[in-house]
Parts: sequence; C-alpha cells; structure tokens
Amino acid sequence: MNVIETARAHARDVVAPSVERWEREGRFPRAAVEAAAAGGLCGLFAPPEAGGQGLTFAEGMGVFEELGRADASYAFALSMHNAVTTVLTRYASVEVRERWAGPLTSGRALGGFSLTEPHAGSDAAAITTRAKPDGAGGYLLSGRKAWVSLAGEVDVFALVCRSGDGPGYGDVMVVALAADQPGVRVARLYDKMASAFLPIGELELDGARVSAAEVIAPPGAGFQAALGAIDVARVDIAAISVGLAAEALELALRHAAMRRMFAGVELDLQAIQFALADVETDVIAGRLLYQRAAGLLGGPGGAVAAAHAKRFCPDAALRAAITCSETLGAYGWLNDTPLPRFIALAKMLQVVDGTTEIQRVVIARDLRRRATGLVGEGPDRQRR
Ligand SMILES: Cc1cc2nc3c(=O)[nH]c(=O)nc-3n(C[C@H](O)[C@H](O)[C@H](O)COP(=O)(O)OP(=O)(O)OC[C@H]3O[C@@H](n4cnc5c(N)ncnc54)[C@H](O)[C@@H]3O)c2cc1C
Repeated sequence: MNVIETARAHARDVVAPSVERWEREGRFPRAAVEAAAAGGLCGLFAPPEAGGQGLTFAEGMGVFEELGRADASYAFALSMHNAVTTVLTRYASVEVRERWAGPLTSGRALGGFSLTEPHAGSDAAAITTRAKPDGAGGYLLSGRKAWVSLAGEVDVFALVCRSGDGPGYGDVMVVALAADQPGVRVARLYDKMASAFLPIGELELDGARVSAAEVIAPPGAGFQAALGAIDVARVDIAAISVGLAAEALELALRHAAMRRMFAGVELDLQAIQFALADVETDVIAGRLLYQRAAGLLGGPGGAVAAAHAKRFCPDAALRAAITCSETLGAYGWLNDTPLPRFIALAKMLQVVDGTTEIQRVVIARDLRRRATGLVGEGPDRQRR
C-alpha cells in the first residue's frame, strides 16, 4: 500500500467509525495517532534517516485529502504534527533531532505549532512573547500563547517568540520548546463549536527554558521560517477541505439516488443535479489548486500558490457541506450524518492557518507587484 492508500484505510477504518465517540468522550485519540504512525503518516516529509517517509510535498499532500474525508480536525492535528516533525527533523540541531525524531515519527510524541497570541492573530508580527538570554546561550520565555491546538497533549512545540521589543519582525525567532517543564502551563481550554476531542487553548509561559541547541531559527530568521511552515500548512488545509467536500458529495449522491419522490428519485430533479454538479466542479478545482501549490512549495510562487489554494478550498468545502446537507432535506440536520459536523469544521478551515481574507491579502500583494510591471509597459502597450 502506498501512503495515500494507507491514509484512505486509516480514515475509513480507524477515524470514521470512532469520531462520534471521540466527540462524546472529549479526549484526543493518541492510540489512533500511533496507528497512523505505524503506516508512516506521522513523518511524511521527514527524512528516512529520522524515521520519516522522505516524501516531497507533492507526493504526500493527498494524505490530508483522505483524512479530511473522515474528520477535518483530526486531519488538521496530523497536519500540524507533520509540519513540526518536518521542521525539527530537517532544520533543527543534531541534539534536537536526536531527542525528537524517533518519538515524533513514531507518533509517541506529538508536535504543536504556536504562533498566535490573544492580541496577535492575522497580525502575526505583533506577538510579544519574549525570549530573554539566560547567560548560557539559551533563553527564558515569558508570555501568553492563544489558539494552541492539542494544548495539554503536545510534547514539543515549534514556538514563535521574539528576542527584543523592536517594531516589525526583525527579532522574531523560532524555538523547539519541550512542553513538560516548569514554566509551561495550559492556562485555559476553549469551549468550541465542534472538535470536542481536539483540545485548543492558551499557554502561559513563565520562565520556560530553551537551550542554544533548541533555537531553530535565530532572531532575524524566525519570521520567514514561520511563514514557510505556514505555507505548507495552508496547502494541507486546502487538501483537507477537498476531502471534506468530496465526502459530503458522496453522501448527497447516495441519498439523492435512493430518495423516492414524484414518481422517481431526487436525483432526477435537474435543480438537484445542478447543485451537485457545482460541488463536483469545486472538488476538482480545489484538488488542482492544492496539488499545484504542493508542487511549488519552497520555491518561487509557492507562497502565492498556497494562498490561492487556501483562499478557495475552505470556502468551497463550506458551500459543499451546506448544499449536500440541503440535499438530504430534514435528514441533513440530524447528527446521524456527519454533515452538521462538516459545516462546523468547514468554518474552522476558513480561519485556521490564516483566514480567507489574509489569503486575499497575499494574492493582492502579488497582483500589485505584477501591476507595477504592467504600468512600466503601459505606453508601449498603448502604441501597439
Ligand atoms: C481551530 C483553530 C485552531 C488553531 N490552531 C492554532 C495553532 O495550533 N497555533 C497557532 O499559532 N494558531 C492557531 N490558530 C489561530 C489562527 O491561525 C488564527 O485564529 C488566525 O490566524 C486568525 O487570527 P484571529 O483569530 O486573531 O483573527 P484576527 O486577526 O483578529 O481577524 C479578525 C477578522 O479580521 C479579518 N482581517 C484581519 N486582517 C485583515 C486584513 N488585512 N484585511 C481584511 N480582513 C482582515 C480576518 O480575516 C478576520 O475575519 C487556530 C485557529 C483555529 C480556529
């Protein structure tokens, strides 16, 4: 089985049958993550010598579409874990790699990414969590992080902080922060619209220690490094969104093909056919967008391609979840189907790893660069 088939089987056999129980119990399923790791799903992009699969983003991104068919928040947790595993196994010091590569790729340890703060979401350069030199080459961290996914479950964070109070992002840095130490405390857990089993909350840092070896990107390099990781995460979210939309469409098709009405079945109605045709177009377009972005990540055009995919796919997933729920009539409102959960999860996908508006900001910035070139060409073009 290749890794995409493994993800399909994991989503179908492990996640889909259990997710309602996970929601009821409100506990993160670490055993499921270890099962995913046994199939290589916890170190997709980590090098083989670190226990990973060594895949390119283009080769591995389909995993998130498959996982997104079963549950977007479980898929998101694995996406974040993979992003942190990739960063720690590719870019961290030998000491950090030796400590974390095995536990992370085997799923025994969970990785988390922490950038957002209560006052700094889209405006990420406004973070204030401070890293003060400890006199031995390391740092002591203080501040408060918000929207920390897997809060209380994460073993190691890739955490974004700053070494000074200067404006902008010149002193932003990224560190590997072990979660089980004094000075790291989950201060609050959020009560959310969905995903009861995925704890998300706030983290208080009060003198938490990182050594010199645990600095992944030093002051000055941290902001770009964090943005690089977020670009990958945006494509993951786009792929998860396509999985959600594709699954919603299958549910709706199955229902409409069987639901008898007006001497035929619901799928005989052209209005229903057209609504589902639009969902299918969105699924195909979304898949092309995330696959294209996955191929460009890390190179020129990668960030903008990621923004296009993240701008389009979660909105398409929400449209799909609503349309497909309507196809089921009143039954679409029942928790017997995953559609109410899918609607809530599509809302989450629109926000996480940068909102839809922020993707438009990234795309518009690129368009303005292009416009500058066009203005230069203006008179020539007019003369032609
Ligand atoms: C389920 C979930 C899990 C998350 N997990 C993590 C995590 O693990 N780690 C982490 O670091 N973060 C995490 N986040 C945080 C997420 O990345 C932020 O919520 C997101 O970046 C938006 O920030 P904000 O919520 O503070 O909104 P704000 O930045 O306050 O934005 C409010 C509104 O203003 C709009 N807006 C902002 N700027 C502009 C602009 N320039 N032009 C037009 N409109 C604009 C936004 O689109 C939004 O609609 C998570 C969020 C969610 C929902």
